[in-house]
Amino acid sequence: MEKSDFLLIGGGIIGISIARELKKRYPDSSICIFEKELECGLHASGRNSGVLHAGFYYTADSFKAKFTRDGNKRLTKYCDSKNIKVNKCGKLVVAQNESELTWLDELMVRAKNNGVPLESITEEESKTIEPRAKTFQRALFSPSTSSVNPKELLKAMQLDAIQEGVRICTNTKYLHRKDKNTIQTSTGLFEAGYLINVAGLYADKIGRDFGFSEDYRILPFKGLYLYSNEPSGSLRTHIYPVPDLANPFLGVHLTVTTDGKVKLGPTAIPAFWREQYEGWSNFRFDELTEILLRQAGLFLSSNFDFKALAIRELQKYSRPKMVSLASSLAKGVEIKNYRKWGEPGIRAQLLNIRGKKLEMDFVLEGNNLSMHILNAVSPGFTCALPFAEHVCDQIDSKLS
Ligand SMILES: Cc1cc2nc3c(=O)[nH]c(=O)nc-3n(C[C@H](O)[C@H](O)[C@H](O)COP(=O)(O)OP(=O)(O)OC[C@H]3O[C@@H](n4cnc5c(N)ncnc54)[C@H](O)[C@@H]3O)c2cc1C
Repeated sequence: MEKSDFLLIGGGIIGISIARELKKRYPDSSICIFEKELECGLHASGRNSGVLHAGFYYTADSFKAKFTRDGNKRLTKYCDSKNIKVNKCGKLVVAQNESELTWLDELMVRAKNNGVPLESITEEESKTIEPRAKTFQRALFSPSTSSVNPKELLKAMQLDAIQEGVRICTNTKYLHRKDKNTIQTSTGLFEAGYLINVAGLYADKIGRDFGFSEDYRILPFKGLYLYSNEPSGSLRTHIYPVPDLANPFLGVHLTVTTDGKVKLGPTAIPAFWREQYEGWSNFRFDELTEILLRQAGLFLSSNFDFKALAIRELQKYSRPKMVSLASSLAKGVEIKNYRKWGEPGIRAQLLNIRGKKLEMDFVLEGNNLSMHILNAVSPGFTCALPFAEHVCDQIDSKLS
């Protein structure tokens, strides 16, 4: 039976960042990542918007507030050191009507509390930043929001991890726990000194094998994107609507990619199985029945109006609907320019089954044998480096 001092299940950005941090803290220990796919980063870490967020959406007491600002700075520095392109395009948050102005004020307060630069600007000023922007009276401008190519960044981190001595075993799937920290994988039995579960869409399930995640279930939400065929540079900055701060999604927005193209999305459409990217891909009957039953229960009663969210989001399978929503953010957003769907991503959103609510923050559970990273949702990519340090602090404290 093979052994490793630290074993991570999941080769996304969070798994790779934690593995590198562990290697820094425990240089003589063996560290191994098991990834079920043939490559790392085929799920959320390679299928996200690629936005390095600034950190003004979150209340100051949250992990997200703690890690986004520093995560943004550190990933930008990392990219600069590796010659990975960062499009420092900034971002506008625009309002549709008078009632949304109070939410702009709330975001200003949160930015101040979190030490994040954010400017409250007039409608005229917003036009100098992006002439196509549409807003009601005022807008916010975030100079530190940017975009990267998430696949490129992950590849660089993966190479660094390997060079630093982390072993990455792709095509190796965690199947179940045998006993204590011995696990059955698709390639045989494996014993972990300490096990870290960073399995994204499957993190809750694996956590339960170890006696954790009892109050939680992953509720997958699909993020669709539409790409514009306009030439690079047709939009200068990201444009976001005022979010509904009661749920963890930011609403359909316009993102400028690293090559200056524009994409629209992502949606947050309830998915019916965990990896329901396209058609019947990765179909699992057990997941379909469990998730359908759960969604039906939430339809009848939930603490976040799942019914309204689901009805609103399901309409976004329609291209005209998506484009019409985004057309309220900027001039010239027309259906003729948005013909190409992009690669969708699926959010591993955690549902608290006792409170019937969506968890808004990252969730960690563990003991002196294992640590389970639940709800590593947006802006998990931006937060990866400081979040990995926090996870390792927790592991250190469990091991001491
Ligand atoms: C549509 C969308 C848009 C987003 N936009 C942004 C954004 O703009 N900015 C931002 O900061 N964040 C964004 N996020 C969030 C960000 O992508 C995630 O927070 C981050 O990628 C989570 O990383 P992870 O390593 O936890 O998960 P993942 O990347 O999903 O990695 C988990 C890995 O575990 C593996 N795995 C699962 N089960 C097993 C098993 N049994 N055995 C072995 N391996 C297993 C999977 O194959 C997968 O590779 C977005 C997410 C989505 C879905």
